[in-house]
Amino acid sequence: MNLYDETKYIINKYNVYPNKKLGQNFLFDEEALNLIASDVNKEDTILEIGPGLGTLTSILLEKAKKVITVELDPKMCEILRTRFIAYKNLEIINQDILSIDINKIASEAKVVANLPYYITTSIITYLLENHVKDITVLIQKEVAERISAKPGEKQAGAITYFVNYCADCKIIGNVGRDCFIPSPNVDSSVVKITRLKEPRVKVKDEKILFDLIKTNFTKRRKTILNSLSSMTEKEKLRGILAKLNIDEDIRGEELTLEQYAQIADLIKTN
Ligand code: SAM
Repeated sequence: MNLYDETKYIINKYNVYPNKKLGQNFLFDEEALNLIASDVNKEDTILEIGPGLGTLTSILLEKAKKVITVELDPKMCEILRTRFIAYKNLEIINQDILSIDINKIASEAKVVANLPYYITTSIITYLLENHVKDITVLIQKEVAERISAKPGEKQAGAITYFVNYCADCKIIGNVGRDCFIPSPNVDSSVVKITRLKEPRVKVKDEKILFDLIKTNFTKRRKTILNSLSSMTEKEKLRGILAKLNIDEDIRGEELTLEQYAQIADLIKTN
């Protein structure tokens, strides 16, 4: 049976109605699945987020030492338990990935997944904040382009800065919308994010840096003086920007990562 027929068969057998809100688009393209799993080998523990019906999981179970899956939908967890009953190297956790203490359940694990579109950037940010070293994920193409852009480029968003701060990121392949059941309205790409040994810039308090970037991009239309004044008093901020020779009327997306780090350091010490 090919993977398309197998996916249809499982959907019918377990009476699955793909839940749009949970981003349930099941991948059946063998080439794409192998690409996502291409970097997995026998020494690896893998954290798979959103295993769904288990198509990617079954490849991971053959290639890795251990697979830990975190899936929000209890019905999917039931299917996985039945499908993979014979596998001793699988752990199934029925929880929201954003509520999981990743370092407790899977420290040193590589993350491999076909992520739900609706929370892709939150998941990637969460993984980076939790110091995950190796992430290979299938995500929406535009988000992949944003993540792999450089700060200052047109597609850049807050996530561009987070990734650039602590990781290298590259798109390793594209996957059409017709490779999924049901087919989503967007195309996808596989990205590989590798954490750097040291972040690209030094900063005294990472949290202030991340908060600064988040604040600036949620208030994108405002000047930096106005958007950042929610983080510290306006006059103090004016002084900091003047000291760093940064024009207070520019927008957040015009700042470099180094400038964000310098502002964060002066907020911390002033
Ligand atoms: N891995 C499967 C595949 O490739 O066919 C399914 C991928 S589907 C795009 C995303 C999966 O993530 C769904 O099974 C969905 O239920 C699950 N999911 C959605 N939100 C989640 C969350 N917050 N935590 C964990 N899993 C989640």
